[in-house]
Amino acid sequence: KFITFEGIDGCGKSTQLKKVTSKLKKLGFNVVSTREPGGTSVGDAIREILLAPKHYNMTIETEALLYAASRVQHIEEFIIPNLAEDNIVLCDRFVDSSVAYQGIKLSHEEVIRVNQPAYDKVTPDITFLIDITPERAAKRLGIEKDRIENRGVNYQSQVRENYLFLAEEEPDRIVIINGDQSEEKVFEELWNVLEDILIR
Ligand code: C5P
Repeated sequence: KFITFEGIDGCGKSTQLKKVTSKLKKLGFNVVSTREPGGTSVGDAIREILLAPKHYNMTIETEALLYAASRVQHIEEFIIPNLAEDNIVLCDRFVDSSVAYQGIKLSHEEVIRVNQPAYDKVTPDITFLIDITPERAAKRLGIEKDRIENRGVNYQSQVRENYLFLAEEEPDRIVIINGDQSEEKVFEELWNVLEDILIR
């Protein structure tokens, strides 16, 4: 199974991914976790470029292509081989992130076109969208300012809207989890869904 975690900056998806990973391991599942952009040597190098403060004066199209390039490498080098070995693959962000983030300045169609090689290779079995308002997420993030998440509440609102739009389009794949609850509650909600898929 290929399971992805999505949401705006500070939604708590990385924390939840860690919790899910350790719970699945405890239950004896073969599970690997990974993240985007990154997850491979090439991907990590691309991540450095993408998250660099000055952003290299990058055009939005270049940015979208770099995210897609990192993703394609990640799929070929890591995701597919792990799925072939029947490992559960948990991934922090995937193509939905590109539609949500790069889809602010580019049209959704353009983002999808750039990501066609990724779409052709693999689709998540289930995607958890940890949904939270940007205001609450910003509070959560606190002092973590070393990334590009200081793009503000307005920006994050648009990202959130894009995510919610995607969830409406693909309700069977994308499960919305209310992220504005305690860590334990979010996990409980998420785990209920996952249990149905993996265990029952
Ligand atoms: O999930 P994580 O916080 O590691 O993501 C790093 C940053 O990359 C996020 O702040 C997010 O805003 C940005 N990002 C993006 N477009 C993507 C994926 C991530 O702008 N497709």
